[in-house]
Amino acid sequence: MHAAVHDSVSVVFEPDLLCSYLRERDIEASRFDSSRTDEYDLVVSFHPDETFFDVPWVHGVRAGYDEFPVERYAEEGVTFTNSTGIHGTTIGETVAGMMLSFARRLHVYRDHQGRGEWAREPYEAPFTLDGERLCVVGLGTLGQGIARRAAGLGMEVVGVRRSTDPVPGVDRVYHTEDLHDAIADARFVALAVPLTEATEGLFGPEEFDGMREDAYLLNVARGGVVEQDALVSALESGALAGAGLDVFDPEPLPESSPLWGMEEVIVTPHVGAMTNRYHADVGDLVVENVERTEREEELVNRIV
Ligand code: NDP
Repeated sequence: MHAAVHDSVSVVFEPDLLCSYLRERDIEASRFDSSRTDEYDLVVSFHPDETFFDVPWVHGVRAGYDEFPVERYAEEGVTFTNSTGIHGTTIGETVAGMMLSFARRLHVYRDHQGRGEWAREPYEAPFTLDGERLCVVGLGTLGQGIARRAAGLGMEVVGVRRSTDPVPGVDRVYHTEDLHDAIADARFVALAVPLTEATEGLFGPEEFDGMREDAYLLNVARGGVVEQDALVSALESGALAGAGLDVFDPEPLPESSPLWGMEEVIVTPHVGAMTNRYHADVGDLVVENVERTEREEELVNRIV
């Protein structure tokens, strides 16, 4: 088995780190070279590339695969696997951090620090997460990672999915048809759905009007799940208290976006899942699937 690591993974880790990690596990691995595709059994990549059609198996290093041409892969007999399952802890901690910051006002004090200001927030501003309600929209790896940490902080956790099957750590599961009921009483709403036809623009003016005025939106899914202009309007008009945003449409967020300058908005540049062991988490998935291939078993995370 020869795995090629495409340069585009450098968005999340140094390609040589994964090559070394795989070699230590007895898998032949090298940097991808488009003139050598006939030598590869597998290419590991962040972005798709036309040359991948010459390789039997493509592994995407992200959970979201909206960018990859999976229907064409299916037609041309290319296997595609993704990296869902590895981001529950990182994203769970990122969302917990954003909520803690909003409640304990850390983002405001950090801004003050930058100006050398010893200034207190008004009495009514700080609150505790304990007892506050979080609604998690999408209850897969990300959603469950967020829910577990929020429950540990004493929050009441509800969630939304396409069925109402229970999820550990989630007090009540709503069907997507009841999204508006689910978000109506929540202090925080966290988005953790894939970007699909059904979720594109899922949050727009109607949803923001249906949320509490003291509510915070947390988007760690994809920018396209939210109508960004409507979000800006909701924040400017006071229909929402604030937002923690890791993903945007477009990315990078343009310098001219009003979101940059809003005190009650935390902007992170699509790094909510970053960790210094990302290459190892992806490597473990690849090793697992290489071993499964050798045992002629079904691959994990196989999309097509
Ligand atoms: P999973 O497949 O584990 O979970 C997605 C969940 O969303 C599924 O459990 C599904 O549950 C639910 N879902 C799908 N459609 C809907 C819908 N219309 N309404 C409500 N729920 C829905 O994926 P992950 O949790 O690993 O990742 C989710 C997405 O988050 C990725 O696709 C990616 O876009 C984004 N992501 C962002 C990262 C970042 O860096 N910010 C990092 C990792 C992922 P059910 O079948 O029960 O409906």
